Amino acid sequence: MTGPVETRVQTGAEPEITRQNYGDDPLKVRQSDHYQKEYVKSFVEKWDELIDWDARAESEGQFFIDILRARGKTDVLDVATGTGFHSVQLLKAGFQVTSADGSAEMLAKAFENARQRGLVLHTALADWRALNRDIHGRYDAVICLGNSFTHLHDEKDRRRALAEFYAALKHDGILIMDQRNYDAILDVGFDSKHKYYYCGDQVSAAPEYVDDSLARFRYEFPDNSVYHLNMFPLRKNYVRGLMTEIGFQRVRTYGDFQETYNDHDPDFFIHVAEKS
Ligand code: SAM
Repeated sequence: MTGPVETRVQTGAEPEITRQNYGDDPLKVRQSDHYQKEYVKSFVEKWDELIDWDARAESEGQFFIDILRARGKTDVLDVATGTGFHSVQLLKAGFQVTSADGSAEMLAKAFENARQRGLVLHTALADWRALNRDIHGRYDAVICLGNSFTHLHDEKDRRRALAEFYAALKHDGILIMDQRNYDAILDVGFDSKHKYYYCGDQVSAAPEYVDDSLARFRYEFPDNSVYHLNMFPLRKNYVRGLMTEIGFQRVRTYGDFQETYNDHDPDFFIHVAEKS
């Protein structure tokens, strides 16, 4: 299939990018900055329309809230706000939340999603690699959820981002970061039963191409529209190792919200890294 082409429509103000653009050779797109172009408005709108927040909240349960409350954490920086799902859940549960993202498009959508639920998001436009230039507080917890860290294609960017997350934390702060189980995808192959993970049964998500430094996922919607994301396939122990090298003292990794699991079974891993 040929990649979708970028088109621009005139809305009266700024031209709006409505299609993704991976150029002539989509498999060559392996840059950490590309996330800005991947989350085009139509993709974001469609995703949010189809993913039932209530169902997602039910499948996650109280997991993140329990982790934060068990450690007495109240002040949270969501560095990958996206359309606002976790920021909203945490605000509703009484946490203080600052909602950051490197995509203005995402933050605008998150703000609107929160507003519709009677909440006001405190937003900040910030790329992780220069997080502390734009965010000045120190937080009890930084969360980076929804398989977001995978957007960094270079190791130096991953190190920089983790160092920035570390610096944004108080001395006893924690980082909560999740990722897809790429070990299973790389070592065993993608199991189609995972196609609809957290997307309800409306959006199918599956890798179209995988090698050691690229996982290109294809997202297909009920109206047959197709979008892609080019991501770096993070191995679990590689991420744990990086976190330790950056200075986190302990990293506990859960598999699909459980403490015990067989390595290839979970769809997602969740790392909880403690600064002290
Ligand atoms: N956490 C949300 C969720 O679970 O629905 C959104 C996840 S979405 C897969 C990834 C988000 O990370 C996007 O909103 C994207 O703009 C953001 N992102 C990716 N790379 C980034 C970077 N280098 N700096 C800041 N934000 C970034």
